[in-house]
Amino acid sequence: MKKLLLAAVAALTATAAVAQYPEKPITIVVPFAAGGPTDKVARDFAEGLRKQLGKPVIIENAGGAGGTLGATKVAKAQPDGYTVLLTHIGMATSPALYRNLQYKTLEDFEYLGLINEVPMTLVGRSTLQANNYADLNTWIQANKGKINLAHAGVGSASHLCGLLYQSTLKVEMVAVPYKGTGPAMTDLLGGQVDIMCDQTTNTMGQIEGGKVKAYAVTTTKRLAMPALSKLPTLDEVGLKGFNVTIWHGLYAPKGTPKDVAAKLNTALKAVLKDADFVKSEEGMAAVVVSDARSNPAEHKKFVEAEINKWGPVIRANVQYAD
Ligand code: ASP
Repeated sequence: MKKLLLAAVAALTATAAVAQYPEKPITIVVPFAAGGPTDKVARDFAEGLRKQLGKPVIIENAGGAGGTLGATKVAKAQPDGYTVLLTHIGMATSPALYRNLQYKTLEDFEYLGLINEVPMTLVGRSTLQANNYADLNTWIQANKGKINLAHAGVGSASHLCGLLYQSTLKVEMVAVPYKGTGPAMTDLLGGQVDIMCDQTTNTMGQIEGGKVKAYAVTTTKRLAMPALSKLPTLDEVGLKGFNVTIWHGLYAPKGTPKDVAAKLNTALKAVLKDADFVKSEEGMAAVVVSDARSNPAEHKKFVEAEINKWGPVIRANVQYAD
């Protein structure tokens, strides 16, 4: 009897906790350095979430190992809805690159919804003589083995894009890993590295300001934004079928109460309709996903499809990172 009573009290307490959620600040773990493209999306998203849930939403940057350190941290966090992960395509590329991932991508998280899709651009330091893709290609062919390509760690979007670029061109470059493309961009601006493939959420402003040279986009279609519309697609300049688009999603540790996860998904959907968030995304050439695509079940199905899509491509081009 006493046991039954205790269980009933515990269940009631849990229900009350869920009903009152959130009662304290929520932490979004961003598994890349501050100032980079994932961080930018996350900071705008956090502001939207704060408006929806009425509690502060804090960003914790936990960069390293292509986003897998931050993902591990969330997979192992208390499943109470106060620690969530906002990350990108790396969720789907890491399983093919790391033999010893500390989490199971499809089993250790509650999927809370997709957020957006973001194109990538191939950019170079402003001191490169090449002013268009053809010139860049000539320079690359003349400097085989000497070109420094920055990326955000094995499994990151810039790494995936850079890998595909090198293998399509059949040119090996010197890969320079960072904890995110925020610091990588700082070095590209300083001329310490030569080229980088990165999301428009990080490159747009630098391209518009003439701080980096932009050579191509990684999508199959040209982009509409005035600053980017002149850039050819990599497919157009001869890298047939080249197509990399980045997406972001939100995740909670497995075991997060269903009602809490549902609250977070409802809030996520509202943020995707928040005029300030949408405007900021559009300004960086990112596209917010539709309501249907931001459903948790669709999110999980999509990640599974991306794992199946990229796994064979990655395995055909690279070896395990660990
Ligand atoms: N853009 C990075 C990447 O290449 C991640 C980041 O720094 O946000 O994956």
